[in-house]
Amino acid sequence: MDRDFPPRRTLETLNFDNSYARLPAAFHAKLLPTPLPAPYLVSFNESAADLIELDPAQAARTEFLEYFAGHKVLPGAEPLAMLYAGHQFGHFVPQLGDGRAILLGEVVNSRGQRWDLHLKGAGETPFSRSGDGRAVLRSSIREYLCCEAMHGLGIPTTRALCIVGSDVEVYREQVETGATLVRMAPSHVRFGSFEVFFYRGQQAEIKILADYVIAQHYPELAELSDKYPRFLREVVLRTAQLMAKWQAVGFAHGVMNTDNMSILGLTLDYGPYGFLDQFDPAYICNHSDHSGRYAFDQQPEIGAWNVTCLAQALSPLMSVEQAKAALSAYNDAFGTHYIELMSAKLGVAPAPDVVPLITGLLEILQQNHVDYTIFFRRLNRFKQAGQNDQIRDLFLDRAAFDAWATLYRARLQQEGSLDAERATQLDRVNPKYILRNYMAQVAIQKAVQDRDYTEVNRLLALLQAPFDEHPEMEHYAGFPPDWASSIEVSCSS
Ligand code: AMP
Ligand code: MG
Repeated sequence: MDRDFPPRRTLETLNFDNSYARLPAAFHAKLLPTPLPAPYLVSFNESAADLIELDPAQAARTEFLEYFAGHKVLPGAEPLAMLYAGHQFGHFVPQLGDGRAILLGEVVNSRGQRWDLHLKGAGETPFSRSGDGRAVLRSSIREYLCCEAMHGLGIPTTRALCIVGSDVEVYREQVETGATLVRMAPSHVRFGSFEVFFYRGQQAEIKILADYVIAQHYPELAELSDKYPRFLREVVLRTAQLMAKWQAVGFAHGVMNTDNMSILGLTLDYGPYGFLDQFDPAYICNHSDHSGRYAFDQQPEIGAWNVTCLAQALSPLMSVEQAKAALSAYNDAFGTHYIELMSAKLGVAPAPDVVPLITGLLEILQQNHVDYTIFFRRLNRFKQAGQNDQIRDLFLDRAAFDAWATLYRARLQQEGSLDAERATQLDRVNPKYILRNYMAQVAIQKAVQDRDYTEVNRLLALLQAPFDEHPEMEHYAGFPPDWASSIEVSCSS
C-alpha cells in the first residue's frame, strides 16, 4: 500500500478548485470574512479533516485560527457569499443569501471528491439584512455536534470541521460570545438558490445553475435529453428519502424553509432542531414555530411542499407534465423507504403487511409517552420465548404492550427470526446514543461558563459512534433528566 496515500496536507497545500466562484457575478458576492477578534480553538474534528486530507496536526498552528476566524485567506481560496431566496414559514422572501456565512472555497481531495469549506459566523455580507453576520458559540456547538451525530447515524448531512471561539460580544436574547463554525458539504446550493432567479424572471441563470449542479453533482444525467426533469426527480427522491430517515430516527429539523433545503438531499442548517425523547408526533422543537408548521409529523408533507417550490423554480426548463411526473415520485419514495427503515428497526422483513405492526407500535408509544430511542434499543433484546419485562415496563398500559408483542412475536416466528442474530443486527440499526437537547445543553454550559470544551469533544466522539457501547458515557443512554423538558430552543443563533 502507498504510504503517502491519501496525502496529508497542510493548510497551505489544500487543493482548491472554486467552481462556484467561476459562475457569473449574479450568483454571489465576493468578499472577505470579517476577522473574529482574538480567536481560540474550541473543537476540531479529525474525521472531517480526513475528507480534505488535512493533517490533524495543522489544528495546533496559530495559522489554523487565523484562517478559520477570517484573519487570513487560505492560499487558493476565493471567498464569497452565495445568493439565494426562500420560502420561510410558507411565505416567499425574495432575497436571503449567505448573511453570515462565507464560502471560502472548494477543496478537491485525491479521490476527486469536492468539499465546500463554509465559514459560518464570518461577518456581514451584502445579504445580512439587519443581522450582524455573527454566530454565537451556543448555536455553533449545536450545529457542530448535530452534523456529526447525523453522520454517525448514517443520515446525509453537512459535516463540521471545527469551531473557533472568541470573547467578542454578540447580542441575541442576551449577550453571548461569537464563534465560527467551518461547515463542509459537496455543495451548499439550496432550493432557494433556484427560487431567487425564478422570482426575478432570470431564466438564463436558472439554466446556468441547473447545468452547473448537474455537471458537478449529477454527472450521470448530463448527457440526457431530459436531464432537467431527471434532475428534479433525483432531488425529489433524495428529499423523500431524507424525510424517511428523519422520521425513522426521530429527528425534527425545526426550520424547513426552502432556503434550508439542500439540492443534494443533505440535512442542512441546524438551528432549533430536536431529537424526540418521548414519542410525540406533534413535537415542535422550534419554540418560535407557533403554528406547528414544522412539527415532527409534518416533515414528510413539508418536504413534498418544498420540492414543489423547487419544481416551480425549475419550470422554465421543463413541461408541466414533466414536472408533475417528477414530483409524483415523492410519496412512493418516502413510503417505501420509511417502511424499509422501520422494518429494519424492528428486525423484520420490509413488506407492505408490516405496516400495521409499525403503526400499532407508534400508537402505543405515543399513548404511553415512551422514550423512542430507549424503546428501540431495548427491543434489540426481545425474546420470542419468555418475559420481556425491561421493554414491557416502559409502558403504563402493560396490556397494550402485551397485545403488540403478540403480533410482533408472531411476525418473528413466521420469518424464522433468531433472537441472538437479530440482537446483533439491531444493535447496528437502533442507536444507543442520540443528541438529546439536554446533552448539547450540558456541553454548551461548560463551554460558555467555564471555557471547558471537554464535553463538546466527548460528545463528538460519542455521537460519531452512536451504535457502540461507551461504558464511561452510559448515563447519556438513559432517560433525559427532568429539567430537560423545560429547555426551550429558539431560532436565535
Ligand atoms: P437561518 O434561519 O439561520 O437559516 O437564516 C436565514 C437567513 O438569515 C439566512 O439568509 C442567513 O444568512 C440570515 N441570518 C441569520 N442570522 C444572521 C445574522 N446574525 N446575521 C446576518 N444574517 C443572518
Ligand atoms: Mg438557513
